[in-house]
Formats: sequence, C-alpha cells, structure tokens
Amino acid sequence: MNPEQFELTAEQRHVADLARDIARGEIAPFVAQWDRDGTFPRELYTKLAQAGMMGILIPEEFGGAGAGYVAYALAIEELARVDAGAAVTLSVHSMICSAIERLGSPSQRKRWLPLLATGDCIAGFALTESEVGSDAANLRATARRDGDGYVLNGRKQWCTNGSYAAVVMSMFRTGGPGAHGISAFLVEGAAPGMSVERVTEKLGIHTSNTCDLAFDGVRVPAEALLGEEGAGFVGALTALTGGRIGIAAQAVGILAACLDESVAFAKDRMAFGKPIGAFEGVSFKIAQMATDLDAARLLVYRAASLADAGKPFAVEASKAKLFASTAARKHASEALQIHGGYGYTTEFPVERHYRDAKITEIYEGTSEIQQIVIARSLLGKIESL
Ligand SMILES: Cc1cc2nc3c(=O)[nH]c(=O)nc-3n(C[C@H](O)[C@H](O)[C@H](O)COP(=O)(O)OP(=O)(O)OC[C@H]3O[C@@H](n4cnc5c(N)ncnc54)[C@H](O)[C@@H]3O)c2cc1C
Repeated sequence: MNPEQFELTAEQRHVADLARDIARGEIAPFVAQWDRDGTFPRELYTKLAQAGMMGILIPEEFGGAGAGYVAYALAIEELARVDAGAAVTLSVHSMICSAIERLGSPSQRKRWLPLLATGDCIAGFALTESEVGSDAANLRATARRDGDGYVLNGRKQWCTNGSYAAVVMSMFRTGGPGAHGISAFLVEGAAPGMSVERVTEKLGIHTSNTCDLAFDGVRVPAEALLGEEGAGFVGALTALTGGRIGIAAQAVGILAACLDESVAFAKDRMAFGKPIGAFEGVSFKIAQMATDLDAARLLVYRAASLADAGKPFAVEASKAKLFASTAARKHASEALQIHGGYGYTTEFPVERHYRDAKITEIYEGTSEIQQIVIARSLLGKIESL
C-alpha cells in the first residue's frame, strides 16, 4: 500500500507531493555528507516553511497551513524516507506548535505561532533529565516564583533542536513531588543564564540537533507559563501523544526507504547465476517488509485521522509508534542483510537507515512505555502497571 492507496484529500496529497519533492530535491543530494559531518541544515527549514510544512499543524489564522495530523504524518514520512533527522526536527517543532495552540494563552498563540509558521523560529521540547526519562513525573529542575516571574534552575538532557530553538517548551517543578508539582514554560532559546551544549556522539540521526541545556538562575516572566501552574506534566503528555504520530510516521518513512533499497538491490545483485531476489530467503524478507510497512502506515493514518476528527487517539498513537518503530528497526537490519557486505558500507544508504531506525524505539516514550499505555487501556491501572 502506498499513501496514494489511502483515501486522502486533495490537500493531503498536495502536502505529500510537496514534501516528497523537497526531500528528493533539497535533501537527497546532500544527506550522506550531512550525516557524515553532523550538519544541521538550518536553511532547509526555511524552505520547508515556504512550502507550509513548519506551520502544518498551526491554524491558518496564525499563518499556518492548518492541514492536520494526516497531512503532518505524510510530510514526516516523506522526509524520513530520505532523512530521518529532518523528519524529527519537523516533528518536534510541530509538536510544540500544537501544544501552544492547544494550551497557550491568546497572547502566547499570537506571539509564537506566526513566528513558528514562518520557520524563522524553530521550537524544542525539554522534559528529560539525566536521572529521569520514562519516569519524567519525578523530574528535579525547579522553577521558583520570584516577584512577577519565575527563576529556573536545573539541567535538561537531549533536547532535540536545542541549539536552534527560539522557544523551548520546558518542564520544571513548581510544587511538591510527583506529576502535580510540574509546570510547563515557554523559555526563549537565548535566555540569560541558559547554556546549550550539543551532543555530537550518537548512533544515528546525525542531521538532527540534540542538546543538553543548563538553566542557571534563568528569569522568565509569569507570561512564560504554558497552561496552569501544576498542569505541566499533563501538558507534556498531551504534546507527546501528538508527537508519537510524528515518530511513528518517521519510522514508516525509514521502513519505506529500506523496502525501496531492498527491492532495487535484490533485482540487481547476482549470485549463483540469478538475481538474489529469486531466492526465497531474500524475497520472503521483502514480502514481510512490505506487509509490515502497510500495517504500520495504516496504524499511523488511523491515529492521525482520529486526531483530525477531534476524537481520543492516545492509545492508537502508542500502538502506531510501537508497531512502526519495531518494524523499522527489524527491517532496517533485514535490508542491510539483503545488501550483504555492501550494506555494511556507506556506499548504500541502508547502513544509515539501520543506525537511524533504533531511536524511534526510544524517544517520545520507549516501546515499553507504549506497551504500558496500551495495557492500561485494556486492564486499567493495576498495581504492577
Ligand atoms: C537522540 C535523542 C533525542 C531526544 N530528544 C528529546 C527531546 O527533544 N526532549 C526530551 O525531553 N527528551 C528527548 N530525548 C530523551 C528520550 O525521550 C528518553 O531517552 C526516553 O524517554 C527514555 O528515557 P531514558 O533514556 O531516561 O531511559 P529510562 O527511562 O531510564 O529507561 C531505560 C530502560 O528502562 C525501561 N523502563 C523504564 N521504566 C519502565 C517501566 N515502568 N516498565 C518497563 N520498562 C521500563 C525503558 O523502556 C528503557 O528500556 C531524546 C533522546 C535521544 C537519545
């Protein structure tokens, strides 16, 4: 099944076509070099903004495309097919756009959404700390009320887009222990007292910017609070629920690329006098890859359609992310295997897909956390969950 086989609106098709054109024209010729050098292609996001992608989830009244989650998933998939790093940059940015749209005050929406839609501003998300990732309700960074604002202290880890983010949705403890003591803030990227250190050593998604952030007495005005004081953890989870559609679509894109590369290689590579695709040991791998790709796409489109219809989609987003990321990791390995020794070299892009696929099982909730969300929806919150 291709995206074309799914019932899409003309606008959704248009978004997918635009994203494909940009991915093929503006990313594909350079991505191997960017991956080698760890380049974050900042100007790419201006081009994506001109095509409406940076404001894909932002309503038209704020300068966005207001195209919805199915269009967003299609765009992310097309980017990830060529560069998973670009896909997560757009995905995290869009997740914050959506959070500001849903949780922000009228003045926060008016201030940030038009800037984020133009691509002049990129957004980031800072929840994880060195001691807490999955267990984010126990985060330690603090926001202390001080006069007409707050003072932020602590460290955040692995913030995607951190070096380039003009605004970072950041979660801090304003009250007692647990989830209810957490508030969300829109912190400006260049706030005095905030320092950003890029993480350069990572397995894959080298074109995505990953940073550690230190907050050392950062003063923010009360207007920086996103939502109510104490509602920041729920706000972060709301953002992540939408974000999971993006990461699932990223995994679908990586998987689609693995299938394309595997089919082409299996038709071309000869062994024992035949193309290797003539051997069942190879062709069955490809058949399974294609089937899992279809299933992953359908799960992503279902979650995205529910989100667009304003219906609950958290469990469906978790299922989509769990399935698509597992399939991407598994089949990236199979794609590399089909390529034999060539797959292990940088001559073919499958080694990059293999490195990039793994992260989709980890960020925005590990596979185990998605399983907890799904299990709770069936079993309720029993003691061991
Ligand atoms: C490249 C990259 C980019 C990232 N971008 C961002 C970002 O933009 N913003 C941000 O805030 N964070 C970001 N993260 C952090 C990411 O979301 C966390 O790494 C992830 O949530 C897992 O947290 P952890 O690494 O602390 O692992 P842990 O929570 O310590 O988990 C370790 C292992 O234990 C398992 N585990 C934990 N609890 C349970 C449980 N109850 N049941 C079963 N298994 C469990 C986990 O599934 C995992 O396998 C990024 C990480 C990376 C590597």
